[in-house]
Amino acid sequence: MSELYVYPEDDGITEMQDLFKQMVTVATQNALHNIEVEKNKEKMKEYRKEYRQKNKEKVKESNDKWLEKNKAKMLEKRKIKMTCPECGGVFRKDNWNRHILTQKHKIAIAIKNSPYRKK
Ligand SMILES: [Zn+2]
Repeated sequence: MSELYVYPEDDGITEMQDLFKQMVTVATQNALHNIEVEKNKEKMKEYRKEYRQKNKEKVKESNDKWLEKNKAKMLEKRKIKMTCPECGGVFRKDNWNRHILTQKHKIAIAIKNSPYRKK
């Protein structure tokens, strides 16, 4: 909003109207920009899908390559056991995302954040 204009000897109404107009313009530009961004996102999604369908072999090859490269790392990561600092549960390191969805963990968090909890 660098183009804001101030009218020193005005009653304020014109200034307000002008400000409002500028705000509407900026909001409209932002909305149009966001629509364009969404359209591009859709386009890219379509393009990727098409590419995957056209190049099934290539994609499979590159996926296999990635798996081959990272398999050892993934298996190593799988061996690590961790204890949750919130609920005391034991889980595998690569299962953190699943652990935070468990009832045990959720209940522990809820109890911790409860306003009725004695300190
Ligand atoms: Zn937990």
